[in-house]
Amino acid sequence: MSILICGGAGYIGSHMAKWLHARGTAVTILDNLSTGHREAARYGRLVEADLLEPAALDAVFEAGPFDAVMHFCARSLVGESVRLPLDYYDNNVVGTLNLLRAMRRHGVGRLVFSSTAAVFGEPVRDRIDESHPTAPINPYGASKLMVERMLRDVADAHGLRSVALRYFNAAGASPDGAIGEGHAPETHLIPNAIAAARGDGGRLRIFGDDWPTPDGTCVRDYIHVDDLAQAHWRALGYMETHAGAHAFNLGNGQGFSVREVVAAVERVGGRPVPVDIAPRRAGDPAVLVAASDLARRELGWRPDYTRLDDIVATAWRWHDGAGTA
Ligand code: UDP
Repeated sequence: MSILICGGAGYIGSHMAKWLHARGTAVTILDNLSTGHREAARYGRLVEADLLEPAALDAVFEAGPFDAVMHFCARSLVGESVRLPLDYYDNNVVGTLNLLRAMRRHGVGRLVFSSTAAVFGEPVRDRIDESHPTAPINPYGASKLMVERMLRDVADAHGLRSVALRYFNAAGASPDGAIGEGHAPETHLIPNAIAAARGDGGRLRIFGDDWPTPDGTCVRDYIHVDDLAQAHWRALGYMETHAGAHAFNLGNGQGFSVREVVAAVERVGGRPVPVDIAPRRAGDPAVLVAASDLARRELGWRPDYTRLDDIVATAWRWHDGAGTA
């Protein structure tokens, strides 16, 4: 099998490439390296290209053929998307439009798409399944929902098969410590908490302690990055037997508050995390927890990492190895 991974130098894409590479799949990585890392793109052939340049995309596809595309390229920061909406619609929507056009031109008919829990917006019930209304409250979520809609239309019109995977909070690192989560600047909770505990990131800012949650901090559902990779792998198999455009929610089904995550980082690392309470962050919903029964049933997906401490331990291992990728 030969797979094109768009965004394969990024956090989740590089773990995907590693997963496929370990299973003997030929991996080509398309990445513009705007946020990805060259050293993380070591599990496939890296082609530096941008989805916003259709001619460059054609060159990538001409070097195929590919059995399927996995698409991780996106701007993905909620707060930034509120400040820079046009960049988000350009990168996430126009970029995917260009990719879909290139796939059609080159006869590639299968796509696994990185979607997000942010398509749901403010939850109207405790656990979010696929029947939950989609009403994004920030441009990031809106851009991903637009793509999901495009995928349904393209499936109907052109028979392109797709699976959109709506991640809740991707977390952790490769258990061998080879690759991990490294954004610059880092905005995510677990790496920021680890950096604060290590004394190399200043104090952790907790964005709001006055949310309508048990301890006043936001609640999220943390899912290990390799469990996400496993779901993508299963989605490839699913498309063999299922036409159309499908969407699945991916999470552990358990919510942890920011304070609980901080406690886990302290417990696992054996070091305190110095914190300050900061104002709420624009675009954040109070609680996001997945119901992933559909993915379990349809894809046969079972997360291997069900304990927050085990997820946090892989992140610590990578940070302690002075990982950069
Ligand atoms: N968060 C925080 N301080 C940080 C980073 C994140 O309090 O330095 C909070 C954030 O407001 C959210 C949760 O931690 O409630 C998870 O945020 P993250 O950016 O990791 O992921 P997101 O939920 O935006 O995908």
